[in-house]
Amino acid sequence: MEDLISISTLNDYIFCPYSIYLHNVYMDTDEGLYHATPQTKGKLAHEPVDTKTSSNRKDEILALPVMSEQLGVMGKIDVYRKKEKKLIERKYQPKQIYQGQIYQLWAQYFCMVEMGYEVDDIAFYEISTNKTIPINLPTTDDKQELMNFIQAFREYDPATPFVANPNKCCHCIYCNLCDKTEENNVY
Ligand code: SF4
Repeated sequence: MEDLISISTLNDYIFCPYSIYLHNVYMDTDEGLYHATPQTKGKLAHEPVDTKTSSNRKDEILALPVMSEQLGVMGKIDVYRKKEKKLIERKYQPKQIYQGQIYQLWAQYFCMVEMGYEVDDIAFYEISTNKTIPINLPTTDDKQELMNFIQAFREYDPATPFVANPNKCCHCIYCNLCDKTEENNVY
């Protein structure tokens, strides 16, 4: 079996493929050295789920490790509500939902289905406003789109020349460590 890709990196790949390379280079480094404020907040938003302390509801499964052999991905879901058959990904305060985040939710969905769970609904939950943002279940075409995307991720070569986008670089957690830009991090 091919190496499994972490679902949490799918959105990062859309943001900048080179950040995946840097992530692998610095993954053993203390996160505090490069994590900017938004990433730290995002991480804290997931912490109660990761430590399984955010819910006392008996019908909720929290922080379930999931994987799909078909997609070649693995990760962890936030919340699955058994009665509603609903998969929920928590976000602290998303300014907008990006396609990469939808890919992540689709990937979690396909993992759960492959593992034998019934999932009728998927959604994001915005912690700061207590708001649920429903997302359509992926169609067959959506699944193919996701598989094509994962294949491109798998085949990415960091030696491929590219022009860094300064607007992205200044918001990137690797900005001060990246050899592709002279930008400074805004955080
Ligand atoms: S600093 Fe810029 S080029 Fe480097 S990984 Fe981040 S977004 Fe990509």
